[in-house]
Amino acid sequence: MAFIQLKDVTKEFNGQVVLRGIDLEIKSNEFVTFLGPSGCGKTTTLRIIGGFIEPTGGEVLFDGEDILKLPAYKRPTNTVFQRYALFPHLNVFENVAFGLRVKHQSFQERKRIKKHNQTILNEIKELKKQNKMNPNHQLEIQIETLKSNMLNRKTFEKEIEMKVSKYLKMVGLDGYEDRSISKLSGGQMQRVAIARALINEPKVLLLDEPLAALDLKLRQEMQYELKEIQRNAGITFIFVTHDQEEALTMSDKIVVMNKGEIQQVGTPIDIYNEPANRFVANFIGESNIVSGIMKKDYLVHFDGFDFECVDKGFDENQEIDVVLRPEDLDIVLPGEGKISGVVDSVIFKGVHFEIDVKTKDRIYTVHTTDFKPEGMKVDLDWYPEDIHVMEVW
Ligand code: ATP
Repeated sequence: MAFIQLKDVTKEFNGQVVLRGIDLEIKSNEFVTFLGPSGCGKTTTLRIIGGFIEPTGGEVLFDGEDILKLPAYKRPTNTVFQRYALFPHLNVFENVAFGLRVKHQSFQERKRIKKHNQTILNEIKELKKQNKMNPNHQLEIQIETLKSNMLNRKTFEKEIEMKVSKYLKMVGLDGYEDRSISKLSGGQMQRVAIARALINEPKVLLLDEPLAALDLKLRQEMQYELKEIQRNAGITFIFVTHDQEEALTMSDKIVVMNKGEIQQVGTPIDIYNEPANRFVANFIGESNIVSGIMKKDYLVHFDGFDFECVDKGFDENQEIDVVLRPEDLDIVLPGEGKISGVVDSVIFKGVHFEIDVKTKDRIYTVHTTDFKPEGMKVDLDWYPEDIHVMEVW
């Protein structure tokens, strides 16, 4: 059974529909990313799971139980926001310990501690009575052991110290306990925010664009670290981003969204190699997307020619879209490839050249490390498995 399930979840804000029937299953310990352009409904979906927004319709289940009636603080979730929301007047230790202290001060927790201590006190009273009647060293030892099991400020502080140390270590900040928040870098602040969210040991961590405020290099470093933290914490992470590279780097599963709808759910490799439609193909990586016709199984027609492909199962003469990734295209000598054209423009991108080749009908973008001058006559070549055929949506 899926750990988290969204069934036909919809949301309207003042009559404007922002989520249109979201169906999604998330397993425990998965790193799931909601990916899509601004305004597509990623944050709204995350907040519905966290209990900060009520959906207009549909169900949200955790372990098969409907949790929509549970307020945010009673759900097994915790959230890390883009703006770290740390307390500048508290040091790193106290910022991380904050969640545990709040929990300790809650009515339910105080009631639980009082009950626990009362049970121990009753047992001690009974043992003392017995000891008075019949003094016995064994009883005294038992009384002392029971006393040490009572919960008080000291035992609680010990637990806090242990957990703060565990989670600071997990985010790579052990030794930073006494640092003032204002003396930390952006990346370090974000780590403190993550440790603070983890310390209450939620089953699901919700992360809303937590790296957006960091510069590119730090963001890339944190992408690897977040994945590592998720593995070590052994819980589910649901991560929101509009950055496709970030999603591809970190996720076990990507949920691509557009205009309040899920477009595709899959592993990064599935989503990249087998985009479900034009939107996904365009949004994930760069693509040449060409309209074509599926002649029959393994034969597709576009740009005036028939080409071999590895796709099947479409109707004969069905209109389809074809995706050719720029890195899958090769520029070869005239007569040696599949379509002929002329180099239209060349841009140096650091690691590769981005070369546009103009054929009879259209322009194809190619990523290659081989420079070719503008105006040169060339052919384009590819392998049949580099053609990805998609239904027209
Ligand atoms: P971004 O990456 O910009 O945060 P997003 O994909 O997370 O975008 P949401 O924040 O979920 O998108 O917003 C989806 C739509 O819902 C947007 O059109 C937004 O304007 C609208 N919306 C979100 N919250 C509210 C609200 N409280 N009241 C009215 N409209 C809202």
